[in-house]
Amino acid sequence: MIKIAIYGKGGIGKSTTTSNLAAALSEKYKVMQIGCDPKADSTKNLLNNKEINTVLDMLKEKKNEVTLEDIVHEGYNGVLCVEAGGPTPGIGCAGLGIIAAFQKLEELNAFEVYKPDIVLYDVLGDVVCGGFAMPIRDGYAENVFIVTSGEMMALFAASNISKAVSNFKNRGYAKVSGIILNERKVKNEDELVEQFAREEGHNVIQKIRRSEVVQKSEELGQTVIESSPDTDIADDYRELAKKIIEICEKEKEEACV
Ligand code: ADP
Ligand code: SF4
Ligand code: MG
Repeated sequence: MIKIAIYGKGGIGKSTTTSNLAAALSEKYKVMQIGCDPKADSTKNLLNNKEINTVLDMLKEKKNEVTLEDIVHEGYNGVLCVEAGGPTPGIGCAGLGIIAAFQKLEELNAFEVYKPDIVLYDVLGDVVCGGFAMPIRDGYAENVFIVTSGEMMALFAASNISKAVSNFKNRGYAKVSGIILNERKVKNEDELVEQFAREEGHNVIQKIRRSEVVQKSEELGQTVIESSPDTDIADDYRELAKKIIEICEKEKEEACV
């Protein structure tokens, strides 16, 4: 099983990238996508905009009676969709919500039951506090990919995430395996992101072009892989999927040597 966390600033395109990646990977693999943003909108493009029960909502409602069927929902091409959910805005700690959701999935043996080849965690990276760092701790995710554009605040968040991951690296937890450039058409964007990656010791593994096809698909609650499979942007996501698998498999092999 390959376990990947996709981090990045709020609004940068994590959920769009992750759900398109999941859809592209689903052409060959069994994929589970776990949304770890209190907004709980990570998987909507895999579910035709259908709202699903979050793990936290179900925990509140059904307490110990929660089953896997309550929280794991099948989306596009069999992708397994989970939303951790979050507390009432302004009250409570979103990080603790993620921890509770992960513990529940573990207790219910979600990975053993569904046997996904690939698990994708879609994580908000504006603050990398205890809760939002959860996917990179305790062996949940092994490979971290950071989504950024050339915008200053996106690069600032990406740098914080990179540093947070380094703090856990020595304990054998996750490592940053690459940077994904989600184009915003900022001046000198490629150079800015390349320079950031170099300074942090990472590689820019794929550029995802800015495309209106993304928004058109989003209106339908679909990924571009589903709605417009023959477009350049769909190829960007497929290329990203291919590279991510290559990188994760290579790093797994190196870790075994
Ligand atoms: P995040 O999950 O990081 O908060 P989203 O994935 O929800 O961000 O994306 C925010 C908005 O940006 C969405 O409305 C989405 O349509 C748009 N977007 C993301 N990536 C692209 C892209 N490559 N081209 C055009 N629009 C994009
Ligand atoms: Fe919880 Fe993190 Fe928010 Fe603090 S910053 S309240 S730990 S989610
Ligand atoms: Mg999101």
